[in-house]
Amino acid sequence: MKIIEHIDRAQGPLFSYEIVPPPRGRTVKDLTNIVKSILPYRPSWIDVTAHGPAAFYHERQDGLTERRVYKKRPGTIGICGIIQNRFQIDTVAHLLCLGFTREETEDALIELNYLGVENVLAIRGDGINYTQKINRESSTNTYAVDLVGQVHGLKQGRYLQELSDPLPLDFCIGVAGYPEKHFEAPNMKTDIFHLKQKVEAGAQYVTTQMFFNNEDYFEFVRLCRNAGITVPIIPGLKVIKKAYQLKSVPKNFHVSIPDELVDEIEASPEHVEEIGIRWARKQTEGLIDFGAPVVHFYIMNDSSSVIEVVKTFL
Ligand code: FAD
Repeated sequence: MKIIEHIDRAQGPLFSYEIVPPPRGRTVKDLTNIVKSILPYRPSWIDVTAHGPAAFYHERQDGLTERRVYKKRPGTIGICGIIQNRFQIDTVAHLLCLGFTREETEDALIELNYLGVENVLAIRGDGINYTQKINRESSTNTYAVDLVGQVHGLKQGRYLQELSDPLPLDFCIGVAGYPEKHFEAPNMKTDIFHLKQKVEAGAQYVTTQMFFNNEDYFEFVRLCRNAGITVPIIPGLKVIKKAYQLKSVPKNFHVSIPDELVDEIEASPEHVEEIGIRWARKQTEGLIDFGAPVVHFYIMNDSSSVIEVVKTFL
């Protein structure tokens, strides 16, 4: 089922979850165990992140260093297929602009369609540390709005090649939004202008970057509505579990952590998980009261603290 259908039919607050494919060379079993662990906590759908190729440096046996380009975490499509078909839970496959040609994206969408996956999150990705060689026969998407346009075109059966009587591919399209502004945007107004372009290109809902102060989300929703963005805006939450995340989360995701939460964790670092759970419960409660259609949890590789939060609301 499509995300917008889940939202339209919801009788109460929905919960969705986001997981990350295992690193190359590892088993998918740990991930399926995470999926099993959240089955009792009403996953309306599960997002599976995408990871573009990057350059890595390896020391060879002869002592020289060799540069190789590969994806550290491949498998988004296969994992969506497993969750969708083994667990009968809808999935959202993340699709990236950076590191992929439009031809590869079209192939990915065809595979997702064969697997029964009906939802994609169209995102740009972040700077990759190598220059992709693009031949004259291929093309790329630069911004997420371009990728939305490509997926939306397939809804009308517009493939990159002209095909006779092509079947349309009907995906529900989500995009990313930033309650604290995307780090590259000069200001919130410009960022929301670009978000609106993604919606006008065919995006049907927005999932936000994680935030730790609900006021940021409330204000973001208000600004989006004033700008004429009417699609559902799904808040994304992360539960802080380890003290080092006070530094790594703002650095990696360009978000801020309120002083009150930082002070509380620094005052009793041995209770960081408990504090993080309490904080996320308070945020979830506030978001449900506000009327957020769904609360989306960034689980990544560890569901235990997210489960502690969600079970309070079931
Ligand atoms: P865009 O919408 O393209 O915007 C990027 C920047 O460019 C913004 O500052 C925007 O204001 C500006 N901009 C947009 N359009 C234009 C234009 N036409 N002209 C000029 N400027 C423009 N990363 C991954 O690698 N894998 C994932 O699975 C993943 N999942 C994510 C899920 C969510 C919910 C979120 C919020 C982020 C996710 N990311 C993921 C991170 C994302 O790739 C980065 O935040 C990236 O820097 C921006 O992606 P975007 O789709 O928002 O980009």
